[in-house]
Amino acid sequence: MFNCNQCVCVCVCVCVCVCVCVCVRTDVASVTPWLAPIVWEGTFDSTLIDSIYKQQNITVATTLFALGKYTRFLKDFLESAEEHYFVGFRVHYYLFTDLPEAIPNVKLGQERYLTVKKVPSLNRWQDISMGRMEILKKLIENELANEADYIFCLDVDTKFYGRWSVETLGHLVGVIHPWFFNVPRFIFTYEHRRESQAYIPAGEGDYYFTGAAFGGSLKDVQNLTKTCREQMNIDAANSIEAIWHEESHLNKYFLYNKPSKLLSPEYLWRDISMSAGQVKIIRFSHVAKNNAEVRPNL
Ligand code: UDP
Ligand code: MN
Repeated sequence: MFNCNQCVCVCVCVCVCVCVCVCVRTDVASVTPWLAPIVWEGTFDSTLIDSIYKQQNITVATTLFALGKYTRFLKDFLESAEEHYFVGFRVHYYLFTDLPEAIPNVKLGQERYLTVKKVPSLNRWQDISMGRMEILKKLIENELANEADYIFCLDVDTKFYGRWSVETLGHLVGVIHPWFFNVPRFIFTYEHRRESQAYIPAGEGDYYFTGAAFGGSLKDVQNLTKTCREQMNIDAANSIEAIWHEESHLNKYFLYNKPSKLLSPEYLWRDISMSAGQVKIIRFSHVAKNNAEVRPNL
């Protein structure tokens, strides 16, 4: 039989449920089968999460590469990052280029730093793209240990349009490729040749991740870059190059080392004119580019 106390208890539970439901998206998956969050607009409270990380005095290392004609993307990247990327937090950009003299002078905010590192130019865009893993591994190993808490490695032919901040932090963070977030697995362009170290058997794999953005703690990203570099070296010795270069190796790595947090395609959109109902906000996107014109080879 109910008494008055039990009635009060039921009422309180109903209220709590209603409050929690406000922060849940029902039109998208916001958690993976291994219980990692998938960050979408509407799945986090930005004010609350900012206040949590504000107490931690964190530094976010952010790497970009601009070799050859890709220096033209730097101005928009940096200016838009200053407007939207970890605003109010300490960010240290590490920029690798073969043309330090072509770097634009962008005014950075307080506690925002830029270190430029010269690297040799390369003849193939594929080698530039894949070579990032080795350079990142060395940067983390040799320089970042006491300098940063988290790292994000981002393509430079991109621009920020909305908030990208502490909601993205985690041990190992992958971004779902915008072309593959709502398609069945057999469409994913994993490496399917057994001869490559990036090989993923048909029917395996969880998500298809972009190679244009990934991050996490220094230790986890160091392991990722080291492993991908080793796997690419083995491929090179066997005269095979994975279908989508380091992106294929990254996808293999994430299959066996599950990311602790996934970012929705809001965090790396591909073509600003493409629309998808679930994507309520585009935070970061590839800009349109003429590959034949900007790359050193086709
Ligand atoms: N990149 C570069 N110079 C080049 C080619 C590539 O600096 O000539 C770097 C740059 O950081 C770029 C990344 O490698 O964002 C990946 O290459 P790209 O963006 O062309 O690949 P996509 O995103 O089109 O697959
Ligand atoms: Mn790119």
